Amino acid sequence: MKNILLAFLAISMTWACTSNTSEKEESKEVNVYTHRHYESDQQLFKDFEEKTGIKVNVVSANADELIQKMTLEGENSPADVLITVDAGRLHRAKDAGLLQAIESETLNNTIASNLRDVDNQWFGLTIRGRVIIYNPENISPEKISTYESLANPEIDGRLLIRSSSNVYNQSLMASIIAHNGEEAATEWANGVVKNMARDPKGGDRDQIKAVYAGEGDVAVTNTYYLAKMLNSSSEEEVKVAEALKILFPNQEGRGTHINVSGAGVAKYAPNKENAVKFIEFLVSEEAQKVFAGVNYEYPVNEKVEWASTLKEWGDFKRDTLNLSVLGENNDLAVKIFDRAGWK
Ligand code: FE
Repeated sequence: MKNILLAFLAISMTWACTSNTSEKEESKEVNVYTHRHYESDQQLFKDFEEKTGIKVNVVSANADELIQKMTLEGENSPADVLITVDAGRLHRAKDAGLLQAIESETLNNTIASNLRDVDNQWFGLTIRGRVIIYNPENISPEKISTYESLANPEIDGRLLIRSSSNVYNQSLMASIIAHNGEEAATEWANGVVKNMARDPKGGDRDQIKAVYAGEGDVAVTNTYYLAKMLNSSSEEEVKVAEALKILFPNQEGRGTHINVSGAGVAKYAPNKENAVKFIEFLVSEEAQKVFAGVNYEYPVNEKVEWASTLKEWGDFKRDTLNLSVLGENNDLAVKIFDRAGWK
């Protein structure tokens, strides 16, 4: 870990020097810290460069590393934009004082208010649902139509869900706290732990595969993992995904829990104007098509068509809870998981 941090510092120092020289001239660059590492993003960043003449410098790492890097760099951070997944993580960056408030009509008009920070410090770029996958041969969808139903004794030993250290589950729990209260959320966690087919391990895709392998009948996953498997170049993954069914929970009630990947402007952004321009570009119709499409996410820009797999699944009722609440309830969510013994 120490080595990684040192390497980060070295990169930042070189970077800080270059940006100091260019600052004297007019700033024609934007420094983007992103967890995303798709080729299509690179293409998109090139398009932005061509359009605006602003060069996009990218640092890719996982979200927690980027947050740590920005914290270490402090006021000298070259970062202009932070892109990461999950409102819980974006909230962490905000809480750590790494972001700043942005007033942008374009962002406010394009992004629904529940999908951005209440203080305008971060903005949702793409949407994912946290859904239920099941084996239709072993369980009927009526038995698992809500998140709450996953805690029912009927599901005993049949549920696959990843570790509670994962931010997606923490945000799901944060939404359950917001809707049902702490006591009900605690009971839910206890019920879910009882129903687990095995100790949590692996990512969302591994839970889907385990259902196919017969380790259980029901799994919880983000939408894009299933969509990616359905569109995978691996025949095995397609076979697995096609054998199972997707269910959007809580359609009769509050709607399915959703989350975003999003971006914010860094507190000490040396190129703030370019940073705002860059995020505005990412929610444009042109960019959203690529940005959301490549990861099979739902675009925040409602004018943009969904990827065909998402269209086939059809529209669904979404929980409209302001995603800022996911960050606010994160600590309590982790506590409840610990008390329930959810590994
Ligand atoms: Fe993911």
